[in-house]
Amino acid sequence: MGTQTSENSAFGTCCESMETGSVERVAVANLPTEWGDFRVAAYRSLTSDEEFVVLFKGEMRRDVPTLVRIHSQCLTGDVFGSTKCDCGRQLHQTMQMINQEGRGAIVYQQQEGRGIGIVNKIRAYALQDQGADTVEANVRLGLEVDLREYKQCAEILYDLGLCNVKVISNNPLKLRALEEAGLKIVERVSIEVDATEDAAGYLRTKKEKLGHLLDLKRS
Ligand SMILES: [Zn+2]
Repeated sequence: MGTQTSENSAFGTCCESMETGSVERVAVANLPTEWGDFRVAAYRSLTSDEEFVVLFKGEMRRDVPTLVRIHSQCLTGDVFGSTKCDCGRQLHQTMQMINQEGRGAIVYQQQEGRGIGIVNKIRAYALQDQGADTVEANVRLGLEVDLREYKQCAEILYDLGLCNVKVISNNPLKLRALEEAGLKIVERVSIEVDATEDAAGYLRTKKEKLGHLLDLKRS
């Protein structure tokens, strides 16, 4: 379980700069899971084909600092339990943290492989089998290293009723994007799952080439 870093505690009037209207909430339902009982909401983008799924729990209030995570879809990690990365474990640990706290939200962003799609991700894995790291593999395939955008994720959190957020993330780009979109980040909650041997190299690359805030003591 990660340590917590307080960064700023000024939460006065909220989210005046938030732009809204680019996503639509389509349906909300109950979703009991192995890690607790949640609500699940479906959103769609009004500016692209993108769809979003949000798991949340508890009352969503703008004035209450609330645990949130933007989780980027990783089919291999989230569904198949791949040990090449730490995505599935981060997702499930986040669900446990929110369940324990009794309040929080996870926006599940369906941008597989940092936006390159599942087929390209597996092409990149094939290159990684020959020794390339996650960044080199994308470059060799002529693909961007990171295509993700987070603006609509911020809008979804606002639409759910949030403003002051405690973001569970090690990715400084996500933090900056949520803040630029208008949310108030009152805390960054770091998350480090125990790295498997397979994931150690991947996590080192994330830290060294993608600027993730990891200390990697265990790997
Ligand atoms: Zn992954």
